[in-house]
Amino acid sequence: MTDVRHHFSVDVEEYFHPTAMTAVYGFDEWDGLPRRTPEAVPLLLDLLDAHGITGTFFVLGWLAEREPDMVRDIASRGHEIASHGSEHRLVYELGADRFRSSVARSKRTLEQLVGRPVLGYRAPSFSIVPGIEWAFDVLLEEGYRYDASLFPIATHPTYGYPDAEPDPYWIDRPAGALLEFPSTIYSIAGRSLPASGGAYFRLLPPWLVHAGLRQCQQRGRPGMFYVHPWEWDDWAPAVEGSRLQWLRTFHGRKSVLRRMEGLARRFEFSPIRETLERMTEERGRST
Ligand SMILES: [Zn+2]
Repeated sequence: MTDVRHHFSVDVEEYFHPTAMTAVYGFDEWDGLPRRTPEAVPLLLDLLDAHGITGTFFVLGWLAEREPDMVRDIASRGHEIASHGSEHRLVYELGADRFRSSVARSKRTLEQLVGRPVLGYRAPSFSIVPGIEWAFDVLLEEGYRYDASLFPIATHPTYGYPDAEPDPYWIDRPAGALLEFPSTIYSIAGRSLPASGGAYFRLLPPWLVHAGLRQCQQRGRPGMFYVHPWEWDDWAPAVEGSRLQWLRTFHGRKSVLRRMEGLARRFEFSPIRETLERMTEERGRST
């Protein structure tokens, strides 16, 4: 199967937003820090344009409120705008009420900016984990139609939803049916290796992500790639704190643009909403 179109997704946030950086940059300091995304994001937009790729950009509401032109630019170049919540807090720390305000506010902000419905959501640090399924109901009630927050692994200390299916699937909830787009894993010898992007793409050999996407292709299903602007931005903050944490968050950035070129040459991609539309139609026909 070579006609499978995978999903190229970007979590649009600043270098001070990843969970690993919360000990260094408190929420109160964010407004005083230089923002890098207005410089970094266009580099990727040019790369995607050159390969005729359109993707899905999960934009953090906090950033959209401060960089509205950047969000409009992403949308005007044909990409889907989706939500990464408002303030980059973990879902299992927010609780249901604050989660609801976070996803409602970011949806409203983004829709006002781009003038079309925002259908999808990805949780900061994949923080929908077992026991947090109420989040699916909240998303449905707030008008979302798909989620891309589940990582089907059991090996990460702070995230992972081991029972998630490997390919896009419907989650039936009291509030309706939500289409889930799990992060891609590569199965080998009975083990599941994360092969979806982020640090796994930046620090491990690139063939791992390629192999994960090819396995999806063999099943005839789209795989999920994800990346953050601070992973390809040349500039990095001189942060105090753990050296190991810094390495895990920022090391390997010089190769990320080159590696994304390699992906763009090898695979076809389309926005997630296209798979949502197709699977919604198929579900309508079968019921
Ligand atoms: Zn994030």
